Amino acid sequence: MILQWWMFLFLLLAVFFSSVLYANPFDSFENELKDYIDSENNQNSELDPELRDLFQPDSEDDFSYKKNTGTNFKLPSHIKVSRLISTTVVKAEKKSNSTYKVKPKDTLSSIAANYGTKVSVIKQLNNLKSDSIRVNQVINISVPKVQTASTIYKMKVFALPVVTAKISSRFGYRRDPFNPNINNFHSGLDLSAPVGTPVIASADGVIEFRGRNGGYGNTVIIRHKDGYKTVYAHCSTTIGDVGQEVKMGTVIGSVGRTGTATGAHLHFEVMQRGKFINPESALQKIEIVTAKDPQNTKS
Ligand SMILES: [Zn+2]
Repeated sequence: MILQWWMFLFLLLAVFFSSVLYANPFDSFENELKDYIDSENNQNSELDPELRDLFQPDSEDDFSYKKNTGTNFKLPSHIKVSRLISTTVVKAEKKSNSTYKVKPKDTLSSIAANYGTKVSVIKQLNNLKSDSIRVNQVINISVPKVQTASTIYKMKVFALPVVTAKISSRFGYRRDPFNPNINNFHSGLDLSAPVGTPVIASADGVIEFRGRNGGYGNTVIIRHKDGYKTVYAHCSTTIGDVGQEVKMGTVIGSVGRTGTATGAHLHFEVMQRGKFINPESALQKIEIVTAKDPQNTKS
């Protein structure tokens, strides 16, 4: 009898320990990871309107957003970024000659003085062998050349949104940091910098969204010309109002690690007509502006 009781107890303990041994301690971790990967993968295929829905903040997010803006960073309102890459001046000379009808008392030297030229120049232009001229003689006058200069400015379209940042992860497919068998699509460029480093608008535009999303953390979206949009995620603070116009260099927040971020960095995305493009290609994009500055140069 005693032996049977002992056996029953042993059986109970064995069942208990085996359940502990065989339960997968990584179950909850794997579920979290799956959710994270799913959300990342969904973001790739999202088109613009859907992406906007993704950023609808809920009440819980509002609370954490307020918590994050409570920090006392003194951010500048603007960081001067030079858009200029190079300038090339192209000169075009326009020769214009005029004629003059000699009046009484005119001499070659008086005419030359009036037109700011030299007697020798007038003589050469009119094949004159002597200084003598007669009334009503029509002579060609070398008038100052009209010089037009056009300046070709090569300008950046997008500026690096964290001026002092280091690239910590590039756009494209990358191996999952938690699972080497999974390739994830990274929809942006990660720029690592200390928490509180100012984040600037990459180009002129209008703030389209400012708020918080689970994975992206505190986020700002700016709409630019030509169907471009830029996304600034994981910010510790964000600045500005929806509808507000910003210039390249306007401070719109600071680097943080809100949302799904392993360290302090800015996740920077560039979209064109709702599709993700490589932010590094956008940063290399050049705009050419030609300006004519007419100058009158005397020759
Ligand atoms: Zn990223």
